[in-house]
Amino acid sequence: MAKIIDGKAVSASVKEEVAAEAAVLKEEKGINIGLAVVIVGNDPASRVYVNNKKKACEAVGFRSFEYALDESTTQEQLLDLIDVLNRDDHVNGILVQLPLPAHIDEKTVINAISPEKDVDAFHPVNVGKIMIGEYAFLPCTPAGVMKLIESTGTEISGKQCVVIGRSNIVGKPMAMLLLHKSGTVTICHSKTKNLKEICLGADILVAAVGRANLITGDMIKEGAVVIDVGMNRLENGKLCGDVEFESASQKASYITPVPGGVGPMTIAMLMRNTLTAAKNQMK
Ligand code: NAP
Repeated sequence: MAKIIDGKAVSASVKEEVAAEAAVLKEEKGINIGLAVVIVGNDPASRVYVNNKKKACEAVGFRSFEYALDESTTQEQLLDLIDVLNRDDHVNGILVQLPLPAHIDEKTVINAISPEKDVDAFHPVNVGKIMIGEYAFLPCTPAGVMKLIESTGTEISGKQCVVIGRSNIVGKPMAMLLLHKSGTVTICHSKTKNLKEICLGADILVAAVGRANLITGDMIKEGAVVIDVGMNRLENGKLCGDVEFESASQKASYITPVPGGVGPMTIAMLMRNTLTAAKNQMK
């Protein structure tokens, strides 16, 4: 039976570390770290995420500046706001909550954020730095997954790692981080033919798809570390991951639950990135 990786506990310890460092910066250098969070429109899920980010800022002693813009905001107006935030010394990190309304081009908006304040690490400059292993920020969800794997004491070097999903924000950077730690990495996606066979070879399996219970126990190698990034809302309103927890936990050595696994880590790593941004801006 697998041990459950407690994302709430690991994220709490990351936030404690961040809060302690932020307190020192405030006391010794008089720096008040600030994160600007921009939300456009009324998407209820986005609203929840933004509120959680605000709460996390309060918990670690950061200031949060929220910009809740109307659905009808034009791309130009949003770019003007980002320009102001890029030049505002009180703002160390800028986060634009995705998705944006259809009339706004996400790429244009992400590219407008100063790479030094891009705490989501979505800007092409930061993505490129991740490729060459010289990064200031790591994208929050994959960085959180690395912390969770680390918390199990599992050595990644030399292990067969399988990442299911190849999105720019989760799957691809996830694979790159595992590769930087000398894992032997396979990336699967919707066109992958023999998913079960590939998964059965994984010592470390990361599922980032968005399909409830796609990965079942019979696809998991005995003793594997299983990380479930998926967040799927079932018809009954319950949240579940991409991994069928009951059957998978019979085979895995460690497994993350949904909720309470990767989710809390994403926000903790956002706090860590904002602290890093503030420190780098001091240099
Ligand atoms: P995405 O952009 O929709 O990417 C999904 C990926 O899964 C794609 O690469 C897709 O392949 C692949 N895929 C789809 N069906 C598949 C199948 N049957 N077999 C194998 N691969 C398949 O999603 P995302 O943004 O990466 O997010 C993935 C999941 O993680 C979602 O549930 C999301 O809500 C969750 N998430 C959670 C957090 C968190 O903090 N916990 C953060 C971010 C995302 P193609 O490329 O071929 O289409």
